[in-house]
Amino acid sequence: MATKISKKVSLEYHAQGRPGKIEVIPTKPSNSQRDLSIAYSPGVADPCLEIARDKENAYKYTAKGNLVAVISNGTAVLGLGDIGPEASKPVMEGKGVLFKIFADIDVFDIEINEKDPAKFVEHVKAISPTFGGINLEDIKAPESFYIEERLKAELDIPVMHDDQHGTAIIASAALLNATECVGKSLDKIKVVFNGAGASATATAKLFMSLGVQEENLLMADSKGIINTRREDLNEEKRFFARKTEHNTLSDALQHADVFVGLSVGGILTPKMVRSMAQDPIVFALANPTPEINYHEAKQARKDIIIATGRSDHPNQVNNVLGFPFIFRGALDVRSTKINEEMKIAAAKAIAELAKEPVPEIVNLAYNESNLQFGRDYIIPKPFDPRLIVKVAMAVAKAAMKSGVAKEPIRNWDAYKEHLLS
Ligand code: NAP
Ligand code: MG
Repeated sequence: MATKISKKVSLEYHAQGRPGKIEVIPTKPSNSQRDLSIAYSPGVADPCLEIARDKENAYKYTAKGNLVAVISNGTAVLGLGDIGPEASKPVMEGKGVLFKIFADIDVFDIEINEKDPAKFVEHVKAISPTFGGINLEDIKAPESFYIEERLKAELDIPVMHDDQHGTAIIASAALLNATECVGKSLDKIKVVFNGAGASATATAKLFMSLGVQEENLLMADSKGIINTRREDLNEEKRFFARKTEHNTLSDALQHADVFVGLSVGGILTPKMVRSMAQDPIVFALANPTPEINYHEAKQARKDIIIATGRSDHPNQVNNVLGFPFIFRGALDVRSTKINEEMKIAAAKAIAELAKEPVPEIVNLAYNESNLQFGRDYIIPKPFDPRLIVKVAMAVAKAAMKSGVAKEPIRNWDAYKEHLLS
């Protein structure tokens, strides 16, 4: 069950001891004068020169290869909106904690005071030599699309905007398994998205990569269904404009197989759910209040499969199932990208894991006695210790296969052991 956290408890947690949630720890002996003469001057000059000779040596002699920048400008923080770079820092530190505990990846959280997307890109490019990868976070759409696209094109380290692709990957895993549960095939289902922002557009695109047909996918924003009659669409939304007579969500949902909400709480009514096709799949992912209350949705349709973003109901779509392990796999083969193949591999690996018998330790962690693949368990739980092996290996393999891995893994057994250690 999700625990309700009071403001007092949260503020005390962050303020106690050394304020904040992360610190830097040296990884080499540093107890004697001799150690320090190696760690710093004069000994440090040797690795410097090796790197000056060949930049790739930075992976050999510095922390670069296991270091990810979690970068924000604070313009779309959680559901709190544009609260500024300083106020986004607790979130970015928190993301650092998740990277570390789930995948042993070190993070520097970087909060940049810059809203202009072109300037933001220049700042990130300028600091990129420090890092093995870049996780863009909580940056407002549509600026975030431009920022990610340019950084992906111009840098040779993996860059991912997690609010887009993390969500897309986990929702795709859920879709793969939900459709399997009800015996529907991806190339036939009718899907309606509510929300046309960062997470919805990326998720819709990944659904299409997995086989959902363009003509079977409708999207709505705050003004209604995105159709070819609309004249107010930005480039991202225009991509989803369809020739359809539908103008409203409730029209579009009639006989639809899947609803994906990445918008705001409480806009999906039981009546709309009742109008959907047999075995409706409803992903009500707005946080913290889903598009429809879980119990109301269950009551509206006995044959429903529902997922939310919340931990107090089954089927939580939570990005932490993806980003730590996706970056783990990408860093470990020194991938230059996180590409479509790697995202699809991650989604499939996450989906596959939900179909395997659940270890007792996971049942215990969630106070369950018998988690089993089915309508109430279509995605694994975040504290499943098998995720790192499954997902990181799948991502690393996909990077190698798609030709973006600079350091291919040759001994998979040894790699698996290493991930588990
Ligand atoms: P975003 O980029 O700001 O996009 C929000 C979208 O929702 C916009 O397209 C907006 O329409 C639309 N919208 C707002 N009110 C609406 C309404 N009444 N009807 C239809 N559409 C409406 O935000 P985001 O990052 O994509 O996140 C969206 C939501 O998804 C948030 O609640 C977030 O917490 C949640 N989320 C959940 C997960 C998860 O894993 N569970 C992951 C990511 C995001 P306009 O374009 O017309 O303004
Ligand atoms: Mg985020």
